[in-house]
Amino acid sequence: MTVGVLALQGDFREHATVLSSLGSDVVLVRRPEELAVVDGLVIPGGESSVMDKLSRMFGLAEPLRAAIGAGLPVYGTCAGLIMLADTVLDAIRGQQSLGGLDISVRRNAFGSQADSFETDLDIPALGAVPVHAAFIRAPVVESVGPLATALATVADGRCVAVEQGNLLGTSFHPEITGEHRFHEYFLQKVLSAAFRG
Ligand code: GLN
Repeated sequence: MTVGVLALQGDFREHATVLSSLGSDVVLVRRPEELAVVDGLVIPGGESSVMDKLSRMFGLAEPLRAAIGAGLPVYGTCAGLIMLADTVLDAIRGQQSLGGLDISVRRNAFGSQADSFETDLDIPALGAVPVHAAFIRAPVVESVGPLATALATVADGRCVAVEQGNLLGTSFHPEITGEHRFHEYFLQKVLSAAFRG
């Protein structure tokens, strides 16, 4: 399986390392030609407003939207989740998302960089062992529409992980805490989409 990591900005190297360790061939995606050869794509954490600008500047935004619409499996972490959300709250002026997930997310919902934190989350879809999750200027999923499903919430009940068909998104960063189950869960989507395809 060839899995792309959107490499315009953010912690794409950490995702590439996890995906390689799980046996995927990894392509760093910066151009439409690179997007065209992947069976799935990870959109990393970073800064969604910058990723948005660069994706439009590099002519990637429309190919990305088309690929998402055509069913390409995509996993977004943090800024990547924001990129996948249909509605972004507290966006900077003119900021666009790619969309795909029937959710609204609020950027920086847990506060500033100084309010970053780590916690354990119960995520039944990934098994009984809690997921250790790092939140870094993280967004929260403020509403989940009928097409999307919440996968995880923090202690106060706010949603921080969702899926919808071939799309998966987390507010936090499994790629930096040694947690590989989200990537494995995503690679299963890639595999079954490739079989169908
Ligand atoms: N606050 C960032 C944004 O709005 C996301 C932070 C992150 O990806 N760790 O894009």
